[in-house]
Amino acid sequence: MGREFREEEFVVKYRQPEKSFLIPYIDYSLCVSCGACAELHPLFFVMRDGRAWVINVEKFVADRHGDVVFCCPFRAITVE
Ligand code: SF4
Repeated sequence: MGREFREEEFVVKYRQPEKSFLIPYIDYSLCVSCGACAELHPLFFVMRDGRAWVINVEKFVADRHGDVVFCCPFRAITVE
């Protein structure tokens, strides 16, 4: 059974260009610590102790920065 769609949820997630509640996440079961995310998007990712971390989530605006998901060759980054 599919997930029920709720209009208000859609509005919150996708129709507030300046105030997004979507932020990047790293799935560490897929991440191989290659560093590509930190190199391509240093505003939102940093390598610390050999591990990738998401930073500056308060500056993340999904409509502007949603393409960060494409920087990971292992598809470890999602925006949720
Ligand atoms: S680009 Fe992907 S695999 Fe590489 S460090 Fe970042 S999250 Fe991990």
